[in-house]
Amino acid sequence: WSSTTLSSAAATETSDDHLDDHINVVLRVRPLNSQEQNRNDSFCAQFHGGGRLEVQNFNQPKQFGYNVVFEPEATQEDIFDNSGMKKLIDMALNGYACTALAFGQTGSGKTHTMTGPPQQLYEDEFEGGKHPDPDMVGLMQRSFTYLLKQAEGVTGNKVIRASYLEIYNEQVIDLLNPNQKRYLQVRWSKNKGFYVENLFVAECECVDDLMAVLEEGMRNRQTGSHGLNEFSSRSHSMLTLTIDTEQQDPDDENLYLTKRGKLTFVDLAGSEKVKDSESSDQMLKESNNINRSLLVLGNCISSLGDPKKRQGHIPYRDSKLTKLLADSLGGNGVTLMIACVTPSSHHVHETINTLRYASRAKKIKTKPIVKMDPREKLILSLKREVKILRNENVYL
Ligand code: ADP
Ligand code: MG
Repeated sequence: WSSTTLSSAAATETSDDHLDDHINVVLRVRPLNSQEQNRNDSFCAQFHGGGRLEVQNFNQPKQFGYNVVFEPEATQEDIFDNSGMKKLIDMALNGYACTALAFGQTGSGKTHTMTGPPQQLYEDEFEGGKHPDPDMVGLMQRSFTYLLKQAEGVTGNKVIRASYLEIYNEQVIDLLNPNQKRYLQVRWSKNKGFYVENLFVAECECVDDLMAVLEEGMRNRQTGSHGLNEFSSRSHSMLTLTIDTEQQDPDDENLYLTKRGKLTFVDLAGSEKVKDSESSDQMLKESNNINRSLLVLGNCISSLGDPKKRQGHIPYRDSKLTKLLADSLGGNGVTLMIACVTPSSHHVHETINTLRYASRAKKIKTKPIVKMDPREKLILSLKREVKILRNENVYL
């Protein structure tokens, strides 16, 4: 990531010269699991350092490169410290829309990376022996702790709000209000962009509040029993923090302005083709819809990564997922993509798909801009004008 400025991209620009940042793409290769070991699957990845790896695709080597490649020995702490997550949080505190997104096939380690194994969450339910292991907690919990610590350094007022939703069969479910009878609607407004109507929002003052939101949402996540993995999920989950911080205007110490940053964590549904597991008709229907969101996300990523297409029509509106990710992918936000794969030769086809997806994402160029309340923006410009008039000794 290059350093970012506070300037906003002019709407009239036609070339993409002003786009100076790329999406940060990291890869995590998990260890072979016991099933893969028992089957004597071979290890199909070779690590060459510097974010480069080689995958043996039926004896044909294929090369890939990312910002960082995490090898199977990488710990949860390594991922948090070295994926660029801290920088993402710092930027969210400074008013940018930031997203961390995990993708890959079911069982590749997305949820493990984002939240850790389930017993890291429900301490009370695991009293019969297993206790949460602080080393195993995921990127989200570590981010909450870091965010709150960094927020202490902000002198002005700050308000953090959290929402948590799931997209299942192209329907939006509020994970903090699961008894809501109707599915929620995704709407668009000039000021907010795409947003979910009537989504429950919890104001959070401390790390425990954020943890409670995460736990509540995880309990309510819908999981279907699936051939590949008992913890597999057929849904996309999205936890969003909005972070309002009142900060001193660098040009005028008497002026305070409120920046609204966003920090979104997305755990995508498994990207595998449905034929990989036995699927009933219901599962097939689910899978088609899930694939639609992932397919559209893939199409958006391809278009955004192509200099010839990125000025044209990007099909965000074709799925709920891409509508909600539009502001972070579409050039004004900052995105960390975490591709998750198994090194098992048995899954090399899906692994290559994930790696290609990740390579396309790496080509996306962005120009992050700070988000401010539009009313606030107007007040700020009026205040500046008053100041100039005062300096010129013009009394109204
Ligand atoms: P996904 O969410 O992609 O479907 P999970 O995160 O649920 O996959 O991972 C599947 C299983 O593999 C889980 O039991 C998880 O704890 C384990 N696992 C995943 N990644 C790792 C890792 N890096 N180290 C150890 N175990 C892992
Ligand atoms: Mg999962």
